[in-house]
Amino acid sequence: MDQTNLESLLQAQRSVIEKIALCDDLHSSLDHISTSVESLIHSGKAYCSILLLREGQLFHGASPNLAQSYCEAIDGIAIGEGAGSCGTAAFRKAPVIVSDIAVDPLWNDFKDIALANDLRACWSTPVLCSEGRVVGTFAIYYAEPMTPSDWHLDLITAFTHLSGVAIEKDQMACRVRNLVRELNASSGKLEALVSVLPDLALIFDEEGYYVDIFGADLSLLLADRDYMIGKNMREILYTEEVESIQRVINKTLLADEVQVFEYTLKVLKGQRVFEGRSAVIHNYQADSPEKKHILWMARDITNRKEDELRIQQLAFFDPLTELPNRRMLLRDLQTAIEKAQSRKMVGALLYCDLDKFKRINDSLGHDIGDALLRKVANRLKPALREQDLIARIGGDEFVVLLIGQNDNLDTMEHEAKVVSGRLIENMSDTFRLNGDEYRISVSIGICMIDKQCQSAEEILRRADIAMYQSKKKGGSQYAFHNPVLQSIIDQRLAMEREITTSLVRGEFVPYFQPQICPASGRLVGAEALIRWNNPKKGIIRPDHFIPLAEQSGLIFELQEQVLRHTCELIRHLDAASPELKDLSIAINISANQFHGDIAQTLIGMVDQEQIETSRLKLEITESMLMNDMDEVVEKMHAMKAAGFRFSIDDFGTGYSSLAYLHTLPIDELKIDRSFIDQIDVEGSAIVDTILSLAQSMNLVVVAEGVETASQQAHLAARNIDALQGYLIAHPMSAEDFVKWSLESLHSQSDVQK
Ligand code: C2E
Ligand code: CA
Ligand code: CA
Repeated sequence: MDQTNLESLLQAQRSVIEKIALCDDLHSSLDHISTSVESLIHSGKAYCSILLLREGQLFHGASPNLAQSYCEAIDGIAIGEGAGSCGTAAFRKAPVIVSDIAVDPLWNDFKDIALANDLRACWSTPVLCSEGRVVGTFAIYYAEPMTPSDWHLDLITAFTHLSGVAIEKDQMACRVRNLVRELNASSGKLEALVSVLPDLALIFDEEGYYVDIFGADLSLLLADRDYMIGKNMREILYTEEVESIQRVINKTLLADEVQVFEYTLKVLKGQRVFEGRSAVIHNYQADSPEKKHILWMARDITNRKEDELRIQQLAFFDPLTELPNRRMLLRDLQTAIEKAQSRKMVGALLYCDLDKFKRINDSLGHDIGDALLRKVANRLKPALREQDLIARIGGDEFVVLLIGQNDNLDTMEHEAKVVSGRLIENMSDTFRLNGDEYRISVSIGICMIDKQCQSAEEILRRADIAMYQSKKKGGSQYAFHNPVLQSIIDQRLAMEREITTSLVRGEFVPYFQPQICPASGRLVGAEALIRWNNPKKGIIRPDHFIPLAEQSGLIFELQEQVLRHTCELIRHLDAASPELKDLSIAINISANQFHGDIAQTLIGMVDQEQIETSRLKLEITESMLMNDMDEVVEKMHAMKAAGFRFSIDDFGTGYSSLAYLHTLPIDELKIDRSFIDQIDVEGSAIVDTILSLAQSMNLVVVAEGVETASQQAHLAARNIDALQGYLIAHPMSAEDFVKWSLESLHSQSDVQK
């Protein structure tokens, strides 16, 4: 190569490189290469052509001086053996030099069109990219048969390479353009997504700088988004907030897993509660892939929190006084018990019940009652320390839970006394409401919570019992739970349970004790006396269970059983002999039966059993008349009108025995056993007085507890109507009583014979 050729080659190369570097359009770069090469060849019969390879086909790249028709004809040819110089070169990945198109077999399929365009020679070289792939062909055509010179070959080498550079640059630019397009599309998707997401997505770097912020509701941000981006959170948040967020960030980075947590922030919208989720993002910034970032999703859960609070409020607080309710108390008490059991501390439970509050409530109405309860609650609260709990667990019942600092029981007991005293003291002033003044006092029962504690229910029950003790002592005072008292109460409770199950099993039956007329010796009636036929303990007498049954209300069911069995006995007697048809059976009535609808109940039951009411005598005691005499008498009249008969039991042991007698619809007096007992010892003065009184009032008189013949003789001599006692017969089962009655009829008729 001579000096001028070399210089012009170098100059052309430089200009081509410049063009490639500065120009974005591939075709004009390739055109520049082509025209440069053509002018360097300097013949006027040489034409340069650059084709581009895409998926096995060659497409027009640059050929500024080749005929348009030729270019169009070969555009898109498939590469392969015999596909002309270029198709074959690209296929072989090696230069193909065809000196005469007219005779070369590689041109068989294309020579007509080439020759028609005055093209006779074609030297083609594959253009390779830096990775060695074929990306196109670089060819020089000649208008006459020709073999390339060294100069030609130098040009081909140099410009084939530059064509490769130009094509590769373009492909790269293409790839970047596509990437950008894809990126735009996906960031569009992200933005669309974020615009509907209620959450904020914040991107932090490791130092706490806001890198990006996305979100639909930007009022959840601390400040304007553009202001925040690029700032460090230290510049925007308070120190404590920064610390807690930084802790989460550190944890996220360390664990490299999603962290979930709640936090409260004052943002543009106001005070909000957020649920944050943080995760590490790797490679967030392409220019510094080694840097880690934090994705911080913030969800505004303020409303949910408020709902939760409201639910919590409803579930754990008393709406009237806004004090904790029973549920909350039980929950805290349970925790206290667990701590006490593990000997970490002791506590005390104060059961507070307002004295006579029910009366205020009933007489003044619930509105006043409610208002007073609120005032009471406000007075009780200040008696307590921060760590104590006061709950309203029902009507006028408040419970205070004192939590000790340690396990010293003495200190706690002292504390319980002091607090109880303060609670009582706080109530001492009158309550003013709508211009009226009310006095309300409180009775307090205290149960200590220590390592022996069993259950929350047990503690509440014990404190409740202690509270009743302090009420019994007059109210407005406190009492500690008493274990001795407790064991009695426990026994009674056990007994109550036993009675209940025995009732179901039908273990309660009445025995019957005959009553005879001393003059005729005839059977005139009987008294039904209940027995508990206990499978384990045998026959149990009523004194052991009647008082408890009366207190617990079980007496009603017991009484029903007695009545049913008695009616059954009456039916048996009637069936056994017509002479037994006028026997009347006495049943004992308890005081509290008169509080209920005794008349209707008894009349209903007897009607159901199809028994004449006159066959039943109801034994009541004087003491029943002591309270609410008017009410009792009214009910007695109703029953009397229905045909029942009444007997005054244990007569003589009550107080104003004589004064009221004439006002009562009674038929009979039963002289108490204690007076009958006296006959043999101290004489019969009292018995005689009762007898003459009763006889003057035309009442039937029965003596009970007749045990000796001398008692019988004395009473018979005074014309008493009937005798009942062991002397005649012990109480016996219904079956035995029917037998006994029939036998007495027979002996009676024997006597008469
Ligand atoms: P009460 O009504 O005064 O019954 C008479 C008690 O004296 C009965 O005792 C009877 O067994 C007993 N008795 C009878 N004759 C003699 C005797 O000659 N000597 C002695 N020492 N005692 C005699 P019981 O059956 O133990 O009943 C005790 C009390 O239980 C009854 O006293 C009555 O108040 C009550 N009671 C019995 N059954 C019922 C009932 O069905 N309902 C109610 N509410 N109370 C009942
Ligand atoms: Ca009786
Ligand atoms: Ca009696």
